[in-house]
Amino acid sequence: MKRIFIIGALASLLIGANAQAAEKLKVVTSIQDFASLTKEVGGDRVDVMSIAKGYQDPHFVEPKPSYLLLLRNADLLEVVGLELEIGWLPPLLDQSRNNRIRPGQPGYLDLSNGVTILDKPSNVNRSMGDVHPLGNPHYWLDPVNAVRIAIQIQQKLSQLRPADAPYFAQRLNDFKIRINEANKRWLATMAPFRGAKVVTYHNSWPNFAKYFGLDVVGYVEPKPGVPPSPSHTFDLIQMMKANKVKAILMEPYFDAKTPQSIAERTDSTLVVMYPSVGGAKSGTDDYISLFDLNLSNLVKALRK
Ligand SMILES: [Zn+2]
Repeated sequence: MKRIFIIGALASLLIGANAQAAEKLKVVTSIQDFASLTKEVGGDRVDVMSIAKGYQDPHFVEPKPSYLLLLRNADLLEVVGLELEIGWLPPLLDQSRNNRIRPGQPGYLDLSNGVTILDKPSNVNRSMGDVHPLGNPHYWLDPVNAVRIAIQIQQKLSQLRPADAPYFAQRLNDFKIRINEANKRWLATMAPFRGAKVVTYHNSWPNFAKYFGLDVVGYVEPKPGVPPSPSHTFDLIQMMKANKVKAILMEPYFDAKTPQSIAERTDSTLVVMYPSVGGAKSGTDDYISLFDLNLSNLVKALRK
């Protein structure tokens, strides 16, 4: 009798485990960094896919039919917000016909809400091709914001799966411990370069620069999303010479021709900086390794 009971209990445990495996939360993110942070918090209770890949400019993503399928089956959609995805996500979301992940629904998480946003405009001006009309949307490139993003994800996953809340809380805690350790290393690496003047191609590094004490004195783009013009490039070169700028930071998806010639004429170094997890072929598998790689490349240029 007792043995039958035990076998029965084992069987129901196995069925329970299977049911749980089948019920993994399906999470879709707009950028790979959020997918990485969702894996940190969600562990084996979530299936996460990102639409934009880390090697793509997240402002301009080409829609594909496979994204519709992802969105149609999603329990949760995580977005950057601040109109970063405005050119590509809203039409996909409409066509996916998944009401659970629409703005305002429990399955929609705009991560710009709980973080520090820089460059907030006093009045919104969408003219002149500026793709940052509501403030700087590249806020994930800041370790403090990464923790705030992870906390928002933990709260959302716990709301959608209350039974797994203790598991998510434990994993968030583990992540906080690891990123705090990494942070000590990063701040020590960057300490000798506080106040260093740099130029960035696109205005995607203000949170990063503020955190590590870099001084961004100009941009290769005349405005975010607008390609370099000869007159702007001329002015930039004069300004960089006057300020003894040591490095130009550029994402891998921009054309290196203009920034490379600016670097040669100003005796500075062009550094490829990866703005997202998955941005490089290797070495950017998660949020912490992304920062390790970027800081190691940056320091080499600043030391010159
Ligand atoms: Zn941008």
